Amino acid sequence: MNTPDNTQGFATKAVHAGEEPDFREGASGDVVVPIHLSSTFARKKVSVPTAGYEYIRSLNPTRKALETKLAALENAKYGLTFASGLAAETTLLLALLKSGDHVVAFDDLYGGTRRLFNHVLADYNISVTFVDATDASLVENAIQPQSRMIWIESPSNPLLKVCDIRAIAKIAARHDLILVADNTFLSPYFQNPLDLGADIVVHSSTKYIGGHSDVLGGAVLLNSAAYYEKLQYHQNAVGAVLSPFDSYLTLRGVKTLALRLEQHQKNAVEIALYLSQHPRVTRVIYPGLETHPQHRLFKSQTTGAGGVLSFEIRGTTKDAERFLERLKLFALAESLGGVESLIELPSAMTHASVPEEIRKQTGISDTLIRLSAGIENTKDLIADIKQALQNE
Ligand SMILES: *Cc1c(COP(=O)(O)O)cnc(C)c1O
Repeated sequence: MNTPDNTQGFATKAVHAGEEPDFREGASGDVVVPIHLSSTFARKKVSVPTAGYEYIRSLNPTRKALETKLAALENAKYGLTFASGLAAETTLLLALLKSGDHVVAFDDLYGGTRRLFNHVLADYNISVTFVDATDASLVENAIQPQSRMIWIESPSNPLLKVCDIRAIAKIAARHDLILVADNTFLSPYFQNPLDLGADIVVHSSTKYIGGHSDVLGGAVLLNSAAYYEKLQYHQNAVGAVLSPFDSYLTLRGVKTLALRLEQHQKNAVEIALYLSQHPRVTRVIYPGLETHPQHRLFKSQTTGAGGVLSFEIRGTTKDAERFLERLKLFALAESLGGVESLIELPSAMTHASVPEEIRKQTGISDTLIRLSAGIENTKDLIADIKQALQNE
């Protein structure tokens, strides 16, 4: 349905895809797709919906523009957008799985995705085996006769572990499983999992795609017409759609994705290098650093390392808390991917719902700090970190 122009570069597509001016008779040639609030669409003939539009839940022109744009950015044929990242995930899982099915998932997933698997899908007799997917052979070993899907995130959150997407895609193909990749952390600017063999990409557009910490949303991008039709049917049946206003805000945000991510990354690199030589810092985890254990694999499947990094400071949880509370420019907050720099303590915030023993097992210590570099001036961010680390 959507036919992205693959001769265009990313920044061009981010601005133009899905938003060609409308020059049809009577149209005004808007260069920005308007917020279409109409909840229903009139038709002239009983059996012919006007331009395919029937009712706001089924499709809306502002949402359609965003779906076309996001599909173009992920090199996908089809796109669907949802009320949140988790609404996208839930609809996808309901559409493609049934009772009795099994999923092999990465053990270092976004907390909400893990909760969805363990506490919602479990009630519908859909089971999950979590494995360390940084070792692709463990993924293959976990496959059962009733397996239908593999679910990965790369890099993961908050430990920034990297999966070999190409290798896992081959395993998925060999066993006839659907490979889903959550690409929220790098955004389509730095990584395109469909090009590496994944079947479906999901995003929380609340993060980098929206980019301004002011809109909640999710997206699913894919190339299979059969899965797209199933998903579209379920999205309408379940109703987890993105509103026209939120579609507009996301369209507005995503146009500057390339510009923003260059600056997010520049800041993250400088901060990672600063922290790496600081005596109070024991460990810095950033896939863009050569010291990252999977740096080479990471480079082979991405064009950049993004704006999120994690690090550990010497001392106790109290020391970590004191550092975080002393920062002036960094907002002490959950979430990531906005223009403002954010920082948080996963063990007490984003990952507090993960049982302590699982946190220990996966390596989320009580002094592990996750930082999302914003687009401010690098020197101001480093000065803030410096002063907060000083007075201990
Ligand atoms: C935030 C996030 C989600 C969930 O998205 P929401 O928009 O908050 O529902 C899923 N995956 C990852 C990696 C995320 O960071």
